[in-house]
Amino acid sequence: MIRVETIAVCPCGSRAYKEILRADRYCTYGAGVEQLDYSLIECTACGLVRTWPMPEHAEHEPFRDESFLESYRRRPALYEHYLGKTVNDIVRLKPPPARLLDVGANIGTLVELAVKAGYDATGLELNQAGVEYAQGRGLDVRCTTLEDAGFEPESFDVISMSAVAEHVPDLHETFGECKQLLKRGGLLHISNSPNFGGFGARYEKELWYGLQPTGHVWQYTPKTLKDHVRRAGFKVVDVTKYNLHRDFGRGKKERLRRALFTLAERAGLGDAISVGAVKP
Ligand SMILES: [Zn+2]
Repeated sequence: MIRVETIAVCPCGSRAYKEILRADRYCTYGAGVEQLDYSLIECTACGLVRTWPMPEHAEHEPFRDESFLESYRRRPALYEHYLGKTVNDIVRLKPPPARLLDVGANIGTLVELAVKAGYDATGLELNQAGVEYAQGRGLDVRCTTLEDAGFEPESFDVISMSAVAEHVPDLHETFGECKQLLKRGGLLHISNSPNFGGFGARYEKELWYGLQPTGHVWQYTPKTLKDHVRRAGFKVVDVTKYNLHRDFGRGKKERLRRALFTLAERAGLGDAISVGAVKP
């Protein structure tokens, strides 16, 4: 059933949507089935899926407590592996020397790998503990939002957002700020966002890791992510789909599950997306 709000429900300006998951069936990954006051809705004009209504302070939600950082600190090699691939993608699209800004730098892993790759790299992170950890490793990671960072327009060659674009409530404002801060020909690199069009989302349904309604307020498919990056005035130059790390258990069923995810990734249905886009 199509419903219409009095205000826009989508950054494309549409007021019409379909509810695709009811609040009472909306689950959070790892926490099991949980009663929440949010729905997952799909814009009938552009197909973008989102949490509705927008949770208050959604962008800060996962960054409030230290437990979020603990998962990174416990498995540094895992994150270095994934973010290493991300940095390789960035090198392929906009090689150093170049000035890079990582928005949502977490504990500074991407910034550190970017410095090693030859970039002049700065990170922004809202979690003070993450910033202190990164600064302790000699990295330029600052505790501020993009909006308040005070950078001059056209200061950067690359702006990176890893596992961030699904969190930012003001999607087009954020892309717009990135565009202002990028030089002409500069690269906006969005990476490691859950792929709602991938196999994981279809197969694991409500238990899929990407369904974290208070944190992941946008559920992108490659199509809708490309579409909204274009709407913000960028030219999309690269799209990749791949599986992020997933812990499989033992036994026949888990071996089958692992095989299905591997096949799905090869078929282009990996459950994460990266998009590279250039400021014209
Ligand atoms: Zn829309």
